[in-house]
Amino acid sequence: MSARLVLLGPPGAGKGTQAARLAERLGVPAISTGDIFRANIRGGTELGRTAQAYTARGELVPDEVTNAMVRDRLAQDDAAEGFLLDGYPRNVAQVAELDAVLAADGRGVDLAVELTADPEVVVARLLHRATVEGREDDTEDVVRHRLTVYTEQTAPVAALYAERGLLAQVDGIGDVDEVTQRLLDAIGQPAR
Ligand code: AMP
Repeated sequence: MSARLVLLGPPGAGKGTQAARLAERLGVPAISTGDIFRANIRGGTELGRTAQAYTARGELVPDEVTNAMVRDRLAQDDAAEGFLLDGYPRNVAQVAELDAVLAADGRGVDLAVELTADPEVVVARLLHRATVEGREDDTEDVVRHRLTVYTEQTAPVAALYAERGLLAQVDGIGDVDEVTQRLLDAIGQPAR
């Protein structure tokens, strides 16, 4: 089965954890734009320096930077048969870009899955994560701003996929294994 999947959901809904599990199970690479930015920030690259000014404040990195990075990543061999995008597209313009990149090879997104979670639960989770991982964008002000950015810019992405009949919503609250199984059910992958 080809699996060109998009994983949506507010920060703190567990996208990163679930993306890694799903990718392993489906045999496709998990491509996390947030992880790629963080790796570049750690590595001190030019992309990292550009991104950090935005990630630290919880703002979206400008589309031209993000889109070019995703375009390069999707052109790599391991993404030819499928991928799971985690954290992209994050606004309506990025949806159009992804459509164009895939359409150039006669491809398209098969399904967008939105991991849903109550905002107060995700804020609590992220503030806890801050004490464990020390991410610089997990302070309370920045976390709340990232949620606002999600509501204003990324929720319309889910609405767009819903209009196309390509959105599945999955409750992100619960045991990690249970949530993985819910996601696999939504994707149409039989239980092992
Ligand atoms: P995440 O790990 O997905 O929460 O992403 C961390 C940060 O990276 C976000 O708050 C943004 O600053 C930036 N970022 C990640 N993905 C994107 C994207 N698709 N477009 C713009 N900025 C992004």
